[in-house]
Amino acid sequence: MSVFVIFGPPGSGKGTQAELLSKNLSLIHISVGDLLRTEISKKTELGTMAEEVINKGELLPDGVILEIVKSFLEHNKMRDVLLDGFPRTVAQANGLLKIMDEFGLGLPNIITLEIDSEEILKRLLLRAKIEDRADDTEKVIKKRIEVYFSQTEPVLEYFKTVRIPVSRINGVGDINDIQYEILDKI
Ligand code: ADP
Repeated sequence: MSVFVIFGPPGSGKGTQAELLSKNLSLIHISVGDLLRTEISKKTELGTMAEEVINKGELLPDGVILEIVKSFLEHNKMRDVLLDGFPRTVAQANGLLKIMDEFGLGLPNIITLEIDSEEILKRLLLRAKIEDRADDTEKVIKKRIEVYFSQTEPVLEYFKTVRIPVSRINGVGDINDIQYEILDKI
């Protein structure tokens, strides 16, 4: 089993590239954000908790997210998988490495999409007009960007410290060109 991770700020195109990559490499793809939105629509206990946190632009507790990812990995041991929207904190990244070690897996293959904060804001405001996501209001978008830079970006530094290579991809450009660049680098 190989574990791929697609990493990057909100609005960097993670979801779009993850869809393409999972088709191109026959990966089982999990988007933690989509999974949480499904829980919200099903009004489960997790969904009720997630809704409140997501609508504030904050992150769910690491323990809850790690449980979800661990169970996903456990159920897909025979396949190659792609994690999208995880890890989002250093504690989640550390938890991922521990789970992979426990399952006897090698190191994760990390791809990060790079995009500046001005472009992020522009894209998310545009997406807010097209999609109807409750967390795409200007106030919540700004909070999500702030949370990204304070809690999620440090994950890249963490991977560097533990010597896990990260493939850096320019997230601005034609969707298919970006996909080719990802396929080329991994
Ligand atoms: P985006 O990448 O565009 O911000 P996502 O759909 O990946 O959107 O995630 C939406 C929201 O779900 C996040 O803002 C956060 O509240 C919650 N979430 C998703 N992934 C995680 C995670 N790994 N840890 C904690 N919260 C998460």
